[in-house]
Amino acid sequence: MSTFFRDALLVQLDPARVDAGNLRVADGRIVNVGPNIVTEPGDENVECGGAVLMPGLVNGHTHLYSALAAGMPAPLRAPRNFHEILEFVWWRLDRAHTLESVAVSGLIGALAALRCGTTTLIDHHASPNAIDGSLSALESGIAEVGCRGVLCYEVTDRNRRDEASQGLAEGERYAKSCAERPDGRFATTVGAHASFTLDENSLVGCVDLARQLGLGVHIHAAEDPVDERITRERFGCGLMDRFERVGLLDVPRTILAHCTHFSDGDFVAVNERSDTVSIAHNPSSNMNNGIGYTPVVKLTKPPQLGTDGIGADMWREARIAEFKSHDAGLPIPFGHSLKMLAQSARFASNALGVRLGVLETGAAADLVLTNYRPATPLTADNLAGHFLFTMGPEFVRDVMVGGWWAMRKGHVVTCDEPAIRARSVEVARALYERMAEVPRK
Ligand SMILES: [Zn+2]
Repeated sequence: MSTFFRDALLVQLDPARVDAGNLRVADGRIVNVGPNIVTEPGDENVECGGAVLMPGLVNGHTHLYSALAAGMPAPLRAPRNFHEILEFVWWRLDRAHTLESVAVSGLIGALAALRCGTTTLIDHHASPNAIDGSLSALESGIAEVGCRGVLCYEVTDRNRRDEASQGLAEGERYAKSCAERPDGRFATTVGAHASFTLDENSLVGCVDLARQLGLGVHIHAAEDPVDERITRERFGCGLMDRFERVGLLDVPRTILAHCTHFSDGDFVAVNERSDTVSIAHNPSSNMNNGIGYTPVVKLTKPPQLGTDGIGADMWREARIAEFKSHDAGLPIPFGHSLKMLAQSARFASNALGVRLGVLETGAAADLVLTNYRPATPLTADNLAGHFLFTMGPEFVRDVMVGGWWAMRKGHVVTCDEPAIRARSVEVARALYERMAEVPRK
């Protein structure tokens, strides 16, 4: 299958590039790009009419298990802090999941992503009462829509004695499943919830499994001061000291999500490990939880950018990353959020073994054709102004992943979206009923 995009405004975020021209795709990859390339026999020809054509976006940290959360029952009383938000809301939802509701969460989460031009999801999954097979269930939903995923099961000891070993087993099982089909569609990391819910053996188990499989660890770190406080109470050392002690920071391709309450010394430590460790910044989620702002300016390498489960609109997340940094009095350089999106793409590229986020020969044909025809001059130098202030998912028209159409003219073509959404209402209703049965703790 081959496709020829004619008369596009070719836009790449980092390094920033804006060029009028054509782009040709064959066998899932970009095979030629430039102003003078021509269509070949058998190509499907797509007239872009001068609109922006750009690489699919990557959500650098998300939780699709929350994709059915819109409208779920409120907790019995309002949470008063972050730990209560987890206990009263998210740790009730995750325990109510079955493999069916996990798969439907994957479908609905991926549909939301596709409509925003987000083609790859770096996910951190939890379903404590349906662990075995959960990553394959989640994958089945994402795959039906046509997106890519870098998935993991978050190992934790927060619910019961055998929970961590089951989480590790699921991570190992899924890693082997991904290794058997290296098609660049799905990959994995070793998931870990957070230091404050992980016994010593479990955290060491995550690091050992990651080393054994050649994978990174994907873990929440200092999202709230509770992580550091409970780590000190239980393990007699700080969070980063604990990570150092078990060798977590030396595991290549490790993701530390949030890092909101890191000390200056902690930031120095992660900056020294910037070759191995990537930070995932989630400003919308941090604002929603009222837990504070991650001082991104203290990082020497751009973090990857994630929604932490609040949809997959990376334009909105980039905008909030910029605005919130100003609001917090710690402004990032204008357009720095585009570099964060590029970092998400680089991480996913390394994990999946395909090149994402660029419009270059050999890169994956994950493409978003928009209706965006700039009303003011658009160049590589002022791209951030367009991306942050006038572009958005409302301009996304057609989406291709790996050379296959997933959305055409605003309609999802990989699956029956109306039928899926109708079924999802029923699955969500049953999920909420199970949630009501889950004990508070
Ligand atoms: Zn998270």
